[in-house]
Amino acid sequence: DMIVFGSINLDLLLSVPSLPEPGQTLLALDSQTAPGGKGANQAVAAAQDGASVRMIGAVGQDGFADAALYGLKQAGVDLSAVRQVQDRTGLASICIDHEGRNHIVVAPGANRAVRAAWIEDNRLLPGTVLVTQMEVPPDETAAALHRAKQAGMRTVLNLAPAVSLPLETMRSVDILVVNEDEAAWLARHLQTDDSAAALHALLGSTVIKTLGADGVHIANAEATTSLPAFPVSAIDTTGAGDCFVGVLAAALERGASTIEAARRALVASALCCTQPGAQTASPAQHEIEAALR
Ligand code: ADP
Repeated sequence: DMIVFGSINLDLLLSVPSLPEPGQTLLALDSQTAPGGKGANQAVAAAQDGASVRMIGAVGQDGFADAALYGLKQAGVDLSAVRQVQDRTGLASICIDHEGRNHIVVAPGANRAVRAAWIEDNRLLPGTVLVTQMEVPPDETAAALHRAKQAGMRTVLNLAPAVSLPLETMRSVDILVVNEDEAAWLARHLQTDDSAAALHALLGSTVIKTLGADGVHIANAEATTSLPAFPVSAIDTTGAGDCFVGVLAAALERGASTIEAARRALVASALCCTQPGAQTASPAQHEIEAALR
């Protein structure tokens, strides 16, 4: 099975007439809760595309836990390694104005308790895929990546949000996925330029830089390849990056090449932009296949 090591949150979405100023009390036009967290979103995207996914993560002991886990359960993700710890469930408060601008506050809560040691040795199987992001403690993410690599697994790191990891850890990653902001941050940090090719040259990992409606750049030992986005009329790009990573990993787990996996992930992430929300917008396998034809 594929392993997703990462965050689980409950998103609280508030549509506001304008973004809040200090001291201001605003009446929201609408509110909604939705399961979120980059780890959970990626696990759901992979499972919806047919992967057997085991989630390693944590929720709190409060009324938000079940709501945060709802999408994972619906998608059939194995939650037996997800722990309920003595903290609050991760919560993201997201204000969105008319123009789609947002104001986001994330309280990590239980995500701070996630440990690499929760991955059992007998689940680290050669050839399977480990997917990580940066919403749980960086030291634990690094430890999970090292253990997976030693066991002969393929490792995917989505450096979101951009947080520093030891260079040795970055270099051990098979596939690094960054968006344009994360690539710019990483390039400053490594004192190189922010192209996929420059990051690949420095790290040795295959680097996939996602460019929103402009698709992706992929740099590996053979070449740098540009793949265009799959054309759609986007209504909500929330979770598109997570959908890309989840479906990429699902395809790699089934034995696809990096380019094949990226083509599938481009289709899935574009379809994700045609529906509101993150997990609810992740396409089903048959929808991805239909669009690929
Ligand atoms: P993030 O959401 O993490 O900031 P991007 O904006 O780069 O990342 O989007 C991730 C992927 O989602 C893109 O590489 C692309 O495949 C897809 N995507 C995003 N926006 C669009 C769009 N308007 N049309 C088609 N695909 C899109």
